[in-house]
Order: sequence, then structure tokens, then C-alpha cells
Amino acid sequence: MKSYQAPEPGMPLQEVESPTPKPSGKEVVVKTIACGVCHTDLHLHSGAFDLGGGNKLNVPVPNPFTLGHEVFGEVVAVGPDAANVSIGDKRIVYPWIGCGNCNVCSKGDEHLCSTGPVIGLKKPGGFGDHIVVPDAKYLHDAGDTPEHLAGSYACSGLTAYSALKKGAPYNSDSDLIIIGIGGVGMMGLQIAKAAFNCNPIVVDVDNEKLQLALENGASAAINPMDEDAATKVSEITGGNTSVAIDFVGSEQSTAFGINLLRKGGKYIIVGLYGGELKFPLPLIPILERGVLGSYTGSPGDMHELMKLVRSGKVDPIPVEKRPASEANQTLEDLKNGKIIGRAALIHD
Ligand SMILES: [Zn+2]
Ligand SMILES: [Zn+2]
Repeated sequence: MKSYQAPEPGMPLQEVESPTPKPSGKEVVVKTIACGVCHTDLHLHSGAFDLGGGNKLNVPVPNPFTLGHEVFGEVVAVGPDAANVSIGDKRIVYPWIGCGNCNVCSKGDEHLCSTGPVIGLKKPGGFGDHIVVPDAKYLHDAGDTPEHLAGSYACSGLTAYSALKKGAPYNSDSDLIIIGIGGVGMMGLQIAKAAFNCNPIVVDVDNEKLQLALENGASAAINPMDEDAATKVSEITGGNTSVAIDFVGSEQSTAFGINLLRKGGKYIIVGLYGGELKFPLPLIPILERGVLGSYTGSPGDMHELMKLVRSGKVDPIPVEKRPASEANQTLEDLKNGKIIGRAALIHD
């Protein structure tokens, strides 16, 4: 099999040939058709998250390391104990796999487990043309979803859906503000319409992305770099927005976004850009400000989301296809904000 691997954090990916894995027990081997490239891949590749104030959180990834957690592929081999799966099935892989034994796993929150064999983080991911999935229960039928888009429901779609659930219900379009309209933010917009009957207000520094969001049903689009941006938002919302979901997670985005909410409003941080949140402590109780994080989604969330996707209710986000051999350039383009929607690596 062929993989594009980082020999060490931050080093350019290298094409590596290795033996194709054989499944044992309940394992399933999936031949990667397409793998979405996510901002998390950038952070994992750099080896660290920026905690602000010059501090970093190192990410413990194996060396060498194969990125890629938005995998769509075809089942090509199954272990002797694998159930409910056949060779030739084309499936989305749920990558946020837990240990299966701890307290969070037993509550169904495998994505919050700290020791699970997460695909594309602890275990080799879809930047390789074959991956091992520990159990067929992590595979999902994509319905009529195009092959190059399907894998993105396992991270950007799931992440957006799980964050939206934390803020729901939404009583009007101006009840929800989405900050950052990259791949995950676009999923947030599409899923807000399909699952929560809400056409949110979107905020982004890129006018081209704002235009795309308007064409896809955003009820208003605001560039926070405009001088009167905050005033414009409050004119639209009357100061009544109860939820903002921040798909950027930078000092600039949080500084702008957290003041757009009404009393009792929730600020949900999803993006991992980095830095520190600065907010006056007395205003947290006085405004009953909720600040919460949202990280990917549970296996249960994935089942709910895929049911919705298979019903055809979720409009697609734009996905650019790139040959897997362009993995390095794709990471670079994502870092520089040059990708509209998502880019997916296509294996031969
Ligand atoms: Zn991701
Ligand atoms: Zn666990």
C-alpha cells in the first residue's frame, strides 16, 4: 500500500510503500477512495496547538505518522469475527474511536475518550490508500452522497452537527451566528437549515466565502473587519442572538463573537486556531454567559447525522478533488486559506 506520511512533526509528507494490512478478529480493511483534509490535520502535522502567551500543547502522534480522518472507502478485507459487513461495501469511516472500557465510552461518548485508537491520530489515516478499522460498527452507508464529499461527514459534518445540537433549539434565523465559514462552518450552515430549520447569520473575514454562504442560504453575512460590523449584527438581531458557534477559535474571532450574544447566550467554540479567551469574569455571571467547547461528535451523533444525510436533506458543501500525491500542497493551501469548502485527496 501507499501512504503519504510525516516522518516527524512539521516535516513534508513522504510517499511510503508498505505491506497492505490484513484484518484479524473484528477488524475491517478499507481501501481509501477519498479523504477530506481538515484544519485538525494541519495542527496534528505541526505537532502542537497554540495555547496563547507563547505556550503550546504538544500532540502525541506516532512517528512516522499518516494523517487523515475524513475517510470514504471500499471494504476490501474482513476479519473472521467481523459482522454486518461485506467485501465491496463502500462506507464512511467514523474515526473518533474510544477504548470501549472507560467511563466516557460506556456513556456513548467515545469521541471524548483519551486512550482510543483514533484513526488519523493514533492509528494511520486516509492519507494512506488502505486503513484498518477495528470494528464494522464504525462504518456508515453514505446513501447517494458523492464519493469525494462523503468522508467529510465524519469530521466537518459531525463536528458541526454536534455543536449545533448543543445550542438548539433555534427560534429564528437571527438566534444563531456562525463564525468562520470554511469547511466546517459551511457544513454548519447546511446542517442548521436541514436539521434545525434555521438560516443563520454568518461571519467571516473573507468576502468570497461570505458570498458563497449567502448563495447557500445564510440569512445575513458580516465581515468583522468592517468598521461597523458589530453594530450591523445588532441591527439585524436586535441583540437577541442566543447562540454563536465559533468555527475559528482565535483571539480575534472570540473577541468579536462573544459580545454579540444576549443575556444567557451560549458561546460554543469549535475551531482550534489557538490563543487565549479574554473576557471579564463578572460578566460571566451577570450576563449568564455560557462558554463551552465542542469536539467532533459521538457515535450516536454520527448515526443521527447520517440518517439526515441519506434522506437527502443536507445540501452539499463545495469539495475540490486533489490527487493524493498533492497532499503537501493541499495542507499548504488550507493553511493559507486558499481552499473554499473542503479539499479531498483522491487515491488511485
Ligand atoms: Zn477534522
Ligand atoms: Zn474510553
